[in-house]
Amino acid sequence: MKLLVPVKRVIDYKVNIRVASDGSGVELANVKMSMNPFDEIAVEEAIRLREAGLASEIIAVSIGPAQAGETIRTALAMGADRGILVKCEGNVEPLGVAKILQKIVAAEAPGLVILGKQAIDDDCNQTGQMLAGLLGWAQGTFASKLELEDGALKLTREVDGGLQTLFLTLPAVITTDLRLNEPRYASLPNIMKAKRKPVDEKTPQDYGVDTTARLEVLETKQPEARKAGIIVENTAELVERLKNEAGVI
Ligand code: AMP
Repeated sequence: MKLLVPVKRVIDYKVNIRVASDGSGVELANVKMSMNPFDEIAVEEAIRLREAGLASEIIAVSIGPAQAGETIRTALAMGADRGILVKCEGNVEPLGVAKILQKIVAAEAPGLVILGKQAIDDDCNQTGQMLAGLLGWAQGTFASKLELEDGALKLTREVDGGLQTLFLTLPAVITTDLRLNEPRYASLPNIMKAKRKPVDEKTPQDYGVDTTARLEVLETKQPEARKAGIIVENTAELVERLKNEAGVI
């Protein structure tokens, strides 16, 4: 069984995000970019399935500028077998990404697509769900545990107030939550090996997908600085202030 793992290039999670001076978005110049952390978890899970003899090949896909090729190389250095870079400038919205992935699924016929639950740049949390909808496949989102047996998938997902268990028939779309696994670091020999693994280059036009944005960003603003709190003397003062100053009781 083939596994398809979409990996997005995003601003590194440790970077202190700054709003661009013209308010059009966030500052990207000279900012460290990395693989979306939830996608590292997806790559790790795919590798574990292959190591357990449950998958034959892992294909990492990224849709973005030429530099997204580095994100694919990271996935290859972790252990993915080959890559597909769909080159395009500008941000591609989740529906455009899902439509491209739908076409790649049709060409590659994977048994599972494992995505991150959300990309930490725009926090959309939409692509996996849209892809499952377009394909008409089972979906298991926010996976914190995966068990694959006899062509069926037992998936534990984190929901408000506890854990939910789903049984899915394959093929299926999975999205990863933080506690699914701890991704491995790529070793130096594997980073060298990754340079020789094949990466196909495509464009959205090759898949007949129009990636024109449907959403318009009107403004991006820095959140207001938090005001200092106050320490009250006793509960009577707290109640008095909540009643007369805050007007919430
Ligand atoms: P989102 O719906 O944007 O929060 O993204 C959810 C997941 O979809 C990510 O964790 C990735 O696995 C995948 N994804 C989104 N955008 C891209 C992209 N441009 N290239 C590759 N994978 C993507």
